[in-house]
Amino acid sequence: MYSKLRVYKSGIHLGEERIVAGNCNSGMINFSGCHLACNFCYTPETSVEQQGQDLSTGEFTDLLDELVVRGARNLNFISPSHVWAVAQPAARRIKAKYGRRLPLILKISGYERQGLLSSMAALGDVFVPDFKVWSPEVARSLNLPEDYGVTAQNAVRLLIQTHGAPQYSR
Ligand code: SF4
Repeated sequence: MYSKLRVYKSGIHLGEERIVAGNCNSGMINFSGCHLACNFCYTPETSVEQQGQDLSTGEFTDLLDELVVRGARNLNFISPSHVWAVAQPAARRIKAKYGRRLPLILKISGYERQGLLSSMAALGDVFVPDFKVWSPEVARSLNLPEDYGVTAQNAVRLLIQTHGAPQYSR
């Protein structure tokens, strides 16, 4: 059980996908220590080297508030699944303060169990789930859990049930 989370990078991200960025100024937080270990990971600084700064829930709340003061129009969590228990209370406090004008975007791996995902779905407004591979053999060859495909399928199904049909950016 984590008592702190590790933030690799945070800031106002002007280059997000259009469907996520909305009217620009995305308040991005990139977490370190991803719970998967894909051998194609494009951010080994976070997944392998686990670079970053450790923050408590209180310190993380202050970081989120600072992003809003700096102009963030949404909160954009990248790979938050393994530290959701620490991040969730902070996100809840900030959303209680700013309401629906500050959507919470969760970019997740697809390998989230139903209990964790239900907790995320109760707070998150927009989800960007990965669906990396289907077959157990391919998953194993990429250093992913063999049940990745089934787990990701169930994750996407739950998100469709709670948040509606997917939208695709061009
Ligand atoms: S889920 Fe994403 S961040 Fe995590 S190891 Fe795989 S590619 Fe890297």
